[in-house]
Amino acid sequence: MIVSRTINRVFVLGIDGAGQFIRNTDTPNILKLLEAGALTYEAQTVFPSISAECWGAMFHGVDPEKHELTNEKAATLPYPENSPYPSFLKLARQAWPDCKLAAFSEWSPINDGIIEQSCGLHAVSLPSPDLAEAAADYIRANPDVKILYMQFDQVDAAGHKHGYGNEGHLQSITDCDGYIGTVLAAIEDAGLMKDSLVIITTDHGGGGDGKPKSHGSADPLDMTIFWGCYGPGIKPGTKLAADLSIKDTAAVVAYALGLSAPQTWEGKVPGDLFN
Ligand SMILES: [Zn+2]
Repeated sequence: MIVSRTINRVFVLGIDGAGQFIRNTDTPNILKLLEAGALTYEAQTVFPSISAECWGAMFHGVDPEKHELTNEKAATLPYPENSPYPSFLKLARQAWPDCKLAAFSEWSPINDGIIEQSCGLHAVSLPSPDLAEAAADYIRANPDVKILYMQFDQVDAAGHKHGYGNEGHLQSITDCDGYIGTVLAAIEDAGLMKDSLVIITTDHGGGGDGKPKSHGSADPLDMTIFWGCYGPGIKPGTKLAADLSIKDTAAVVAYALGLSAPQTWEGKVPGDLFN
C-alpha cells in the first residue's frame, strides 16, 4: 500500500438499514460511483445488528461489547471522552484543531451520542430530502471540509414498515439514491471529487431470523451489508474481500487522511483496497 497523500478529505455517506438490498433495486448514482471504485455486497456488520451498535462500530472501530453503545444510550448520553476507542472524527479533531468536521444525521443520536461532543461538529438533523439539500449547500460553501458524514434514516423506517427487501423498502433505497446523487453532484460541482475519498455504506440489513420487519439478529440478512468507496489510489472495479467489516471503515478513513489508527481499534485497512 502507498500512503494516499492525494486524498484531502473524506465523505462517508450512510444509508440506515439498506443491508445488501441495493442489489435488488435501481441505484444509478451509487453504482456509477462505486463501480468506478471498490465495492462489495458481502461486507459484515457487527452483532447485534442494531443502529447504534453498528454505526458505533463504524465510527469507533470496535465491536459493541467494547464501545458499549446502544440506541438508548446514544439518545440520552454523550459518548465518553475517556474511551480508549476514539471515533475517526475525534482523531481528525485532535490532529487538526481548526479543521471542519460535519455530520448530517437524520437520526440525531448519531450526532449527539455516538460521535464525541469534543469533535465540535457542524451537526445537522433533518428529514432525508432536506438533509441532502442542506449537505449539498454546506459542501458548496465549505469546500475545505475535512470529513463529512451523512446518515439517511428513511430506508430503515421503510424496512420496519413494509418488510426488508419488499417493494416499499426497495423504493425507499431508490429514493435515497436520488438524495445521494444530490450530494455527489455538490462534491463534483465544488471540484472536490478528484482529491476526496467517498465511502458509501450502511449499518445493517433486516428481515433475518424469520422477522421480515425487524433486525438485530446474527442472521446473514441482518448482518450482510454493502460497502464501497471511490477515490485516488483505488482501482476502478476493485472487488473487496467478503471479510470486510464495518469496523474497517474507521481504519480506512484514518489511513486516507494520513492519521495513525489507535492500536485499540479492531478494524483494519483491507489489503486489496489501495493499490
Ligand atoms: Zn440502523
